[in-house]
Amino acid sequence: TEQALSKLVVKETQCPYCSVQCKMSVEELAAPVAGQRRAEYAVQGLPNKASQGRLCVKGLNAHQQVFSSERLMQPLIRRQGELQPCSWDEALQTIADRVQQLQHTYGPDTVGVYGGGSLTNETAYLLGKFARVALGTKYIDYNGRFCMSAAASAGSKVFGIDRGLTFPLSDIPKAECIILAGTNIAECQPTLLPYFNEAKENGALIIVIDPRKTATAAIADLHLQVKPGMDALLADAMLKVIMEADLVDSAFVKQRTSGYEQLAQQMGNLQLEQAATACEVELDMIRQAAIAFGNAQTGMIMTARGVEQQTDGHMAVRRFLNLVLATGKIGRTGCGYGAVTGQGNGQGGREHGQKADQLPGYRSIENAEDRAYIASVWGVEPEALPGKGVSAYEMMERIHEQHIRALLVMGSNPVVSNPNVRLVEEGLRKLDLLVVADMFLSETARLADIVLPVTAYMENEGTLTNLEGRVLLREQGRAAPGETLDDWVILCRIATKLGKGSGFDFDKAEDIFNELRVASRGGKADYYGITYERLRKEQGVYWPCPSAEHQGEGLLFRERFAHTDGKAAFTLGSSLGWDDVSDEYPLILTNGRILPHYLTGVQTRRSPALSAREVENFVELHPATAARHRIRDGEWVEITSAYGTFTVRSRIRESIRNDTLFVPMHWGGIQNVNRATRPELDPVCRMPGFKTAAVRIQPLRLV
Ligand code: SF4
Repeated sequence: TEQALSKLVVKETQCPYCSVQCKMSVEELAAPVAGQRRAEYAVQGLPNKASQGRLCVKGLNAHQQVFSSERLMQPLIRRQGELQPCSWDEALQTIADRVQQLQHTYGPDTVGVYGGGSLTNETAYLLGKFARVALGTKYIDYNGRFCMSAAASAGSKVFGIDRGLTFPLSDIPKAECIILAGTNIAECQPTLLPYFNEAKENGALIIVIDPRKTATAAIADLHLQVKPGMDALLADAMLKVIMEADLVDSAFVKQRTSGYEQLAQQMGNLQLEQAATACEVELDMIRQAAIAFGNAQTGMIMTARGVEQQTDGHMAVRRFLNLVLATGKIGRTGCGYGAVTGQGNGQGGREHGQKADQLPGYRSIENAEDRAYIASVWGVEPEALPGKGVSAYEMMERIHEQHIRALLVMGSNPVVSNPNVRLVEEGLRKLDLLVVADMFLSETARLADIVLPVTAYMENEGTLTNLEGRVLLREQGRAAPGETLDDWVILCRIATKLGKGSGFDFDKAEDIFNELRVASRGGKADYYGITYERLRKEQGVYWPCPSAEHQGEGLLFRERFAHTDGKAAFTLGSSLGWDDVSDEYPLILTNGRILPHYLTGVQTRRSPALSAREVENFVELHPATAARHRIRDGEWVEITSAYGTFTVRSRIRESIRNDTLFVPMHWGGIQNVNRATRPELDPVCRMPGFKTAAVRIQPLRLV
């Protein structure tokens, strides 16, 4: 490894963490000297169209995990209960043999595949093909189910298409009013913050909707500290104010939308005072926010997991989209809706067939035409393609019930990221075969029968699609160390061992991308006109891009929406809301991200600089809550819901509501917040209700 490190110069790579996908260079300044000195590196942001050369603390330290001594360098196999090194041939042959035995006994669906939103487009695409063609199983889903599913399904229903931002990032400073609902951009996508500061300098009013006074709320002109779970009702109340103040854009509504009259009738029943009371936000503040948004000539609404990770997340997003449509703020400069993606390839990861119900290009696995097209690209009969599977958490239930007996996990750590961890752990331990491909021995990998070491972001080539829908090429900057392999190479080799190598005989990532382009052609996320050559030349291309001559579309819906009638659809019906607190569980637990860490922390916890910033998990609670429960600042506390218990240190802050606890999501083991989150799922998008669990808290003291 030391030899591989010497004279390292990576002229251009991309941060592996969030959805901005900042470009950067990494150069070794001083080589490591055994026992005396660690290597020193210079990391610089490179100008690109999204990040404009900025990097946050995560990007500045992303090289540390690449050079971590904890990197897995060879395959591991479990013998007499212990994971021990083995050859690639033994690992892959064992996987193929066990998969074939299990499928022979229990049928093809006894094997499941679990992917991730940080995988490149090429790997995400190939994983979908691998599951359906090489394994012939319907069970595939991915961790993006916990990330983007609510916004994705809402965008599809309302606009007819799902793309994170409907506008380019460069439009943000052109908005007069911006609503940020349940999104903490300052910590989760820090290099975007200057866009909002520039908007403020241009006179924009910024409204933040969040139960916590986050770093993002610090730049707000108005902060609506809503009760967790009440976002949909708050959006409805704002819409009612806009209607009463006659601020609806009637011309836009008439020409470009459907369903407004029914919605207006329904909104007649909404009592503003009651809604404000239920949201626990002063009615006057709701009025101020709504009138400011309605009066602005240009405006945007962005949501993220705070609104979306609820058991009515799908409907909650749609209520915010009602606001966008009623005020005509979409399809023109300075306007639009944005779902602020969290994962590095949260956008591309959901477009190419990792989801249980989708084939590449956002095609439906239940639509005969879509199946026939993809089957022709893959060289199989449409009837040979399996049907729709189930969502990520439901796969964990199938595993627990032993309907699924073998699982391949790639680019994910489900034992930390799923709700109701007890069931997930129990299920994974019951599996006849658990295979995990990862850079590190994650909490999930520790339970595996076989662990496959993969390359890091600097060591492989591929494309990722950032939150704007801009496809970016990440070139290989460093040779693969040890025996690590790219994820897609592993899939091809397993397919070959299974005797299904035809269709998995790719030489390089670009060849997979070229097949992906054809598979996406004519679909809603059309990449056909995008090539590696263009990506190199143009520093990224937006989809949809149906031909080589097409420039890609940064601003969507200028003239028509993607439904067949060209109109966007208003949303009727009411949201489910949430209020499960009781005497036994009197507080609301909400989880989320913090600045130095990413997802379940598998990578960032192995970066010394990032880990040093937050070395262990904590609960943020209000002084009044702490006093009520006799909790001192910095002491260990136990938090319990109907599903389980976890233990963290207390952090007493004025910045949170006194009925709410906030716990980061980046730690496993006994500090894992998801031991207590609830597994109820949104009925449409199957998102778990991460943001609202009824809990109790107590100090953990030796008596
Ligand atoms: Fe950029 Fe996001 Fe990486 Fe920070 S974490 S450097 S904002 S890509």
